[in-house]
Amino acid sequence: MINASFAQDCPACSRKLHVRVAYLGRRVTCQHCQAEFIAAESSSHLMQPAFLRDSLVQRADDLLRRLEIQAEYA
Ligand SMILES: [Zn+2]
Repeated sequence: MINASFAQDCPACSRKLHVRVAYLGRRVTCQHCQAEFIAAESSSHLMQPAFLRDSLVQRADDLLRRLEIQAEYA
């Protein structure tokens, strides 16, 4: 099941790529044009809703910023 892959169009060259499910949400490189993009399957139940993922990233950013501020005053 880990070896499953899905098709995704490269956002740079629009060619169809086969991306392993294990790389979902990670930075991958197009084998045709070497463009880097985040692997995301648009039409699958496997994918997290974008708003949920964005809010998690936002929360991580806020936390990091807070830690930086604390470090300055430490
Ligand atoms: Zn490409």
